[in-house]
Amino acid sequence: MTRASGLVRSVTNMRMVFLGPPGVGKGTQSQRLTTHLDIVPISTGEMLRESLRHRTPLGLKAEHYMSTGQLVPDELMVELVADRLSADDCRRGYMLDGFPRTVVQAQALDQMLTERGTPLDAVIELTADTEELVRRLSGRGREDDKPEIVRRRLQEYLRQTAPLTEYYRHSGIYHAVNGMGTIDEVFGRIRAIVDP
Ligand code: AMP
Repeated sequence: MTRASGLVRSVTNMRMVFLGPPGVGKGTQSQRLTTHLDIVPISTGEMLRESLRHRTPLGLKAEHYMSTGQLVPDELMVELVADRLSADDCRRGYMLDGFPRTVVQAQALDQMLTERGTPLDAVIELTADTEELVRRLSGRGREDDKPEIVRRRLQEYLRQTAPLTEYYRHSGIYHAVNGMGTIDEVFGRIRAIVDP
């Protein structure tokens, strides 16, 4: 990583993965961080929704899984991400949000990045106390935000990502960041990791 002193934005070309449960404030932090580092935000959920809007073959294949809340098959996701990361803009660095979701995807990502000689620089996981997340998400008043349903969504997230956390934990680039506190406090913790 290099950083020209005196610049407001750091010049890092960082390649990152961002993990975190629903309600932890990942969207907000992701926006601030990609702006701060001047890297490309890549949300696979957003890419799929865009494909669906344009009725592309990929969008049509993914539609059924998305509408029933299931994961889109790894093969499709890996191809989508491999294509996206080949684009020129990704040379300035990127942050993956929503990918990988499975260990198979994580392994495929590692493999493609190793082949390209551009390994990941950081995996950041925002963490929060489950009860606090339940309180936050339940406060929105939506039917699917009832505490017991929120709790189930969180359990589902943990079930899915626990193996992923385990996969990255020993990689030397994994950082768990406490997601509790104000937006500025949490962003400060993330900066302490990504800023040289
Ligand atoms: P998200 O906006 O990240 O919650 O993604 C919305 C939906 O897109 C998910 O419920 C999945 O159906 C699909 N999706 C997004 N990213 C992935 C991924 N990495 N693997 C499998 N399915 C995904």
